[in-house]
Formats: sequence, structure tokens, C-alpha cells
Amino acid sequence: MRTGIGIDTHRFAEGRRLVLGGVEIPGERGLAGHSDADVLTHAIVDALLGAAGLGDIGELFPDTDELWRDADSMALLRDVLGRVEAEGWAVAHVDATVVLERPRLAPHRDAIRESLASVLGSVNVKFTTGEKMGFVGREEGAAALAVATLAPA
Ligand code: MG
Repeated sequence: MRTGIGIDTHRFAEGRRLVLGGVEIPGERGLAGHSDADVLTHAIVDALLGAAGLGDIGELFPDTDELWRDADSMALLRDVLGRVEAEGWAVAHVDATVVLERPRLAPHRDAIRESLASVLGSVNVKFTTGEKMGFVGREEGAAALAVATLAPA
């Protein structure tokens, strides 16, 4: 078995969509980024790459590359899963936490989990806030952490 961790942060911006695990969350603003800024999916991608020993998301999909502008992060996730599987690994489980002050994500939990599970299989998604502390608490941005466990295919 192998494990990997992933962490990502993105800042809020007006006129952007909020996309988490491939699911658009309705609201007044979203996260800024070169791609669709899906902070949760980015953390999971890095966890998978870490577990497989394949580097990190910035190496594979540089934000200087126009190819990845407004990229669908779920497409990046599928690409990375293919690379992980090509190395002889299967996803045993992925656990992730989104750290976000607003909006409340609990009503979207099933949709987000099912979206990620459609690619990864066994997934758990959790949500927490910054308790009004730090950049998350000040609603400047969001963070996500993920742990991926791989088993030999
Ligand atoms: Mg990111």
C-alpha cells in the first residue's frame, strides 16, 4: 500500500464560479485560478501523485501553459488517475477535507462525493470552517487537504 497527501489553496474572486469536486456551488463568488480553481480536486490530484511517486500538479499542468487555462479539473483528475493506474496502482480510498467559511457545503456533500466517486471509487469528503481565523476565516480564500491510499492493481 502507498499513501500520499495533497494540500491546495485558492483565493476568492468576484465573477468566478465556485467548483468543488466538479460540482458548481451556487453563490456570489468563486475561487480564482488558472484552471477552474477546483481546490478540492487539486488537493486530491496531488495526493494521488504523491502516493504514486509521480511529482505534483504544478509539474504536470503548469499554470504558465495556456493549454490549462480554465481547465476542467475533473479532466485533470481523470488524466492523473490514468497515470497512476499505468504505474500499476489502484485507488483504495481517498479522504479529503475542504476548509471554507462560506457558503455552507453540507447540502452539497452527496453531489460532491458522488462526482468524485464516479472517477475514484471509494471517496469521503468532509467540510470545516476556519472558525473566523486566518485567511479562511476572513473569507479571503479556501483550502483543501486530501489523503490518497493506493493498492497494487
Ligand atoms: Mg490549485
